[in-house]
Amino acid sequence: MKIYIENSLWDSFSFFEEIRKLFKFPVEFSPYVFKDPYFLAYIKVRNPNKREFYEPFPIEVENEKKGLIKGVIYDGVELLKYFSRDVDTPEPTVLITKRLIATFGEDGRYHLRMIVMGPAAIISLKGILYAPAKSPQYYIMHSFGFEEKIDVDVGKVLKMLLLQFYAYFKHEEIFCESEECMLHNCHTMEEIKRVKGLCGRHGKMFGDSVNLRGLSF
Ligand SMILES: [Zn+2]
Repeated sequence: MKIYIENSLWDSFSFFEEIRKLFKFPVEFSPYVFKDPYFLAYIKVRNPNKREFYEPFPIEVENEKKGLIKGVIYDGVELLKYFSRDVDTPEPTVLITKRLIATFGEDGRYHLRMIVMGPAAIISLKGILYAPAKSPQYYIMHSFGFEEKIDVDVGKVLKMLLLQFYAYFKHEEIFCESEECMLHNCHTMEEIKRVKGLCGRHGKMFGDSVNLRGLSF
């Protein structure tokens, strides 16, 4: 597995060892830089109820270049398309970022996400902190107020998301009905707390690729 960490996060990222220990196969980490500030400014979520992209103002492109992106939420599908094209590898590939990502739902609204997956995946560390805490709508409406401290085990959620992507990539399966299984589709802090490890079926499925002993919470 190849895991890119966005450059701005690389120095403070503290989960290298935990992730390496999770898998029985090698995990390679590299820093990643988005090279197109115009595109990043273009795919900003501008309206929680509409999926529309506008020509960005020059100042927005400048802000991207300087990393002044506090409160910015990106369209996760577009960001993932860009990343997938950029890295294009046959092995499972993940980008971990501090950026907030949202996807447009069938209910006609954007929802903040912890992960967006397709041929590759993007995991948002900020999304892990904020997406399950309150209604995603709250954060999109108050997108400049990401300041409060939130109690979530980021390492645990990161492992859950990596396993979900790996399951999807390898076995075309993502979610599990069992509330205690790491593949359970959790939407709230309470649901995350109930997760204990892998269920019997997924334990078997991952026996060769995941260190099950490291998985009790
Ligand atoms: Zn399961």
